[in-house]
Amino acid sequence: MKSFGVYVLLSFAAAVCCVPVSKVTVQDESFAKGYLKRFFNLTEEKEPLSRKGANPMSKKLSEMQKFFGLRITGTLDNNTLEVMKKPRCGVADENIARYSTFGDGLKWKKNTITYRFVNYTPDMSQAEVDDSIRRALEVWAKVTPLRFTKLTSGTADIMISFARRSHGDNYPFDGPGSTLAHAFAPSPDIGGDAHFDDDETFTFRSSKGYVLFLVAAHEFGHSLGLSHSDNRAALMYPLYSYKDPNTFVLPQDDVRGIQSLYDPRATTTQAPTIPDVCSSPVEFDAVTTLKGEMFFFKDSYLWHSSSQSSTPQKSLISSFWPNAPTSVDAAYENPRTGNVLLFKGSNVWAFSGTQPVPGYPKSLSEFGLPSFLTKVDAAFQDARSGKTYLFWGGYFYLTRKAVESFSWVRQTFSGMSNKVAAATEKEGYAHIYSGLYMYMYDLLSGTLLRVLKNTYLLGCN
Ligand SMILES: [Zn+2]
Ligand SMILES: [Zn+2]
Repeated sequence: MKSFGVYVLLSFAAAVCCVPVSKVTVQDESFAKGYLKRFFNLTEEKEPLSRKGANPMSKKLSEMQKFFGLRITGTLDNNTLEVMKKPRCGVADENIARYSTFGDGLKWKKNTITYRFVNYTPDMSQAEVDDSIRRALEVWAKVTPLRFTKLTSGTADIMISFARRSHGDNYPFDGPGSTLAHAFAPSPDIGGDAHFDDDETFTFRSSKGYVLFLVAAHEFGHSLGLSHSDNRAALMYPLYSYKDPNTFVLPQDDVRGIQSLYDPRATTTQAPTIPDVCSSPVEFDAVTTLKGEMFFFKDSYLWHSSSQSSTPQKSLISSFWPNAPTSVDAAYENPRTGNVLLFKGSNVWAFSGTQPVPGYPKSLSEFGLPSFLTKVDAAFQDARSGKTYLFWGGYFYLTRKAVESFSWVRQTFSGMSNKVAAATEKEGYAHIYSGLYMYMYDLLSGTLLRVLKNTYLLGCN
């Protein structure tokens, strides 16, 4: 029964035909045994002819029948077999309860979770896969304080891959049908990862095949710490059933489950957790030099390298510059005056040391920028030429006194086709920050010299 359509057809055929009873065969017995081992922790019985009622196979059959709301007989009948043959998730049905979790320890201790694609399925376009996965995560983000950030390199909390048969963990896939996917409970390394069986046909929204959004939303429940529910309406019910992805609403059982792990009310009362930028990579909002040190900005925090310490010092932007905006888009140091300039939205602030420079904050147009520039992504001033580089989308604006020009970023900085998040200049080299990396260019020739981790100059050990 691979899809609802086929299922209806078969039932109909059975109804108009004759007697729909078929005998349980030896193959069925061994299939059922495999199923119970896999999903209900059936262990190999040492004494198969032990006392009546103590037969472990029969005990596990009863457990399975109870979980799926079947008649509890403890024997293998056709109804039980039918359920066993339905397409399902590959994670075991260990806890027999409504919603259940893997246990209190198995949850993320942070609210920003990263994900990354290891590869894509050929069944759908990349844009469709991206969109399906984004919406599947959104299902959980809507009812929790969790937020999901997509990475394009490095190790993410949730690594997403499509694979066939044996694929490097101890849970090989089984070809078409039956197991569709599996995912691992929160923990480092493989924890959180979601694997999809690429012997299945995944679809964007069609019921002919398995809707990736539905399968992924279920698997991400595991990635976040939920195990299976025996509530048939629940997303965490282990069997696949088609629902229209456009009108999908997370069932109450799942909402209660995920909120038992991640309380949405905690967002307003909980102090924000300061990310450890050395161990879990982040994309910085802005980077600047300041009096020989490097300053890295992310949300309301800044980190700076320090000659007194081997680890970066972190603080709130507001405790360093009490009059600064709570977060910044871009920052640079004016090498002649030693002032630091902070950009946020359509305004710019200037500080001499920690003191605000009189006349600031200014709007970008008061600062002398063209009126269509509503925001600055990154900025630096070249000490040798005195030119200021202001990045905006795929362009940068170059200004020195009254002379100004616009250029394409990727024409001047060869190979830089991604969004520029931050930039600095040091000893004639432009440091362009994008994603989790820093690209070092020769400022005169525009040649790319090195690609480094974005924390390279922060002094992470
Ligand atoms: Zn599952
Ligand atoms: Zn796997």
